[in-house]
Amino acid sequence: MARTLDPELRSALAERVRYCHELGIYDFYRRETVAASVEVVAASLSSLSSSLPQSELREEMSARKSAVAAVIAEGSIFEVVNPKPEYGVSDPVAALKLIREDLGDCTRCKLHKQGRKQIVFGVGNPRAELMFVGEGPGADEDAQGEPFVGRAGQLLNNMIKAMGLQREDVYIANVVKCRPPGNRTPEPDECETCSPFLMRQIAVIKPKVVVALGATAAKNLLAMNSSLADLRGRFYDFKPGGVRADASWPGARLAVTYHPAYLLRDPRQKGEAWKDLQMVMKYLGIEPPKKAAE
Ligand code: SF4
Repeated sequence: MARTLDPELRSALAERVRYCHELGIYDFYRRETVAASVEVVAASLSSLSSSLPQSELREEMSARKSAVAAVIAEGSIFEVVNPKPEYGVSDPVAALKLIREDLGDCTRCKLHKQGRKQIVFGVGNPRAELMFVGEGPGADEDAQGEPFVGRAGQLLNNMIKAMGLQREDVYIANVVKCRPPGNRTPEPDECETCSPFLMRQIAVIKPKVVVALGATAAKNLLAMNSSLADLRGRFYDFKPGGVRADASWPGARLAVTYHPAYLLRDPRQKGEAWKDLQMVMKYLGIEPPKKAAE
């Protein structure tokens, strides 16, 4: 007998299909769900538990847990439904171009109708070992279409120079690509809608280190709600979520430091920010220029 869907589930599915159609996605493929895989493994483990000695059972459980983890890590159902145009493109310049094209004249979140002049995609070396991620464009960035070009951008340039690098050596982007009105903090729904594009940029660039500038970037990248003070001073293992990354890329190390705009307001914290950058330099094997090291 044909199964009927729960009305709430039916309505949620209809809403998802409508949303996908708006995005131009019309082809859907059926796939075994992760939940089903977990259920199968759980059932098989419970039948094993009565028949195997404890040591063998532990080994078996560990192997099967890894199998489930692999299913989960292999990718979400949404990735299968919606493969990204840059997948399979090995040249990061071309891949970033495809992501920018996919973003288009984006209206996916409400920031598109709150006074933005243009989308600020990101700038820098598409093969950068070091990537900086800020919160969102300000007035200067909105006017020029490039992240970190105002006063905070000048300070970021100085920080990069103090590390012995040039702005052109690194890649710079933000969590949201449109200017929040009045330079307010981007709201969670805006970050959630826009950040998948940032994740795709990171997956294409494959940096060794990502530096999150300020609390908004740190919390969005790490999905942690701790204070900046708690998040600083250590590296985190980072792989962009929700996207397919090159299997040979082990992921990045992520460090958290103050946003340059905050350092302009409270220059006493510059020493602390420099400590964060020194940690990054040490990891990347960068010797600071003599003047900065003195
Ligand atoms: Fe689109 Fe991002 Fe701009 Fe929102 S902030 S409209 S998601 S580009």
